[in-house]
Amino acid sequence: MLLAELVDESEVVFHLAAAVGVRLIVESPVRTIETNVNGTQLVLEAACRKKKLVFTASTSEVYGKSEHVPFHEDADLVLGPTSIGRWSYAASKALDEFLSVAYWKERKQPVVIARLFNTVGPRQTGRYGMVLPNFVRQALEGSPITVYGSGKQSRCFCDVSDSVEAILRLVGTSAAIGEVVNIGSNHEITIEGLAQQVREQAKSASSIQLIPYDQAYEPGFEDMPRRVPALEKLENLTGFRPSIPLNAIIDRVIEYQTAKRSPDTTQKLPAGTERSASAIAM
Ligand code: UDP
Repeated sequence: MLLAELVDESEVVFHLAAAVGVRLIVESPVRTIETNVNGTQLVLEAACRKKKLVFTASTSEVYGKSEHVPFHEDADLVLGPTSIGRWSYAASKALDEFLSVAYWKERKQPVVIARLFNTVGPRQTGRYGMVLPNFVRQALEGSPITVYGSGKQSRCFCDVSDSVEAILRLVGTSAAIGEVVNIGSNHEITIEGLAQQVREQAKSASSIQLIPYDQAYEPGFEDMPRRVPALEKLENLTGFRPSIPLNAIIDRVIEYQTAKRSPDTTQKLPAGTERSASAIAM
């Protein structure tokens, strides 16, 4: 089977594939749960036969509604009721973590688990509703920048190249095996602040439009007010801490989308730029 062949050819298995993006999750909870749980189980099972190291990508969503920022890896997880579809994503990824830790403890299958906080960069698709590619597109089009809720909720945005560096360092660190580690930036900005910064850096005249959550997602939708990672564990294990500043990240996303929009420059984009970087973008 394909998975077994790929495991045979590999030294490390990076399991980044998942159903992601709040909109997809709210619209398709069955697909979300099945993709995330069954996919991880298949990867762990295949890797375990050859005892190849597995990197399991999890998400800051597992902290749920906790307000104890910064979020530490050993903190309690605070999820909402099973009647609200959006929590199925956090629960499915928490199960992926349980399963990965269980394979390590019970079967001596080496695993490293990371909780990725908001990850952004050029090539990230806006298709699944993620905020930065959408704000940049709207700013470049001159259409209203759509801020959901009050815009007072905040996030920390980490450049994908910083996240990749953290992942590579973790899989090279034996003390990280069996551990759950946050990866992200701890520079916090409100979503309204992000909209203003994108508009300014894109030199755009777009308006900023507030859209209630029940129109943006579903009635009863609950957003996380803040989401900040504790980064001590990552730094203690690897000596690394993400550092690319937000204005540099925004500039690069603007540059990428500007090149993509212009018919004269699309030829110059590197091969594969249409592929989504969203697999690790939660
Ligand atoms: N958001 C927004 N406008 C958009 C897309 C998202 O205001 O067009 C908000 C969203 O409600 C959330 C934040 O931006 O508060 C980050 O959303 P994203 O889906 O990128 O990541 P999340 O942190 O929700 O996983």
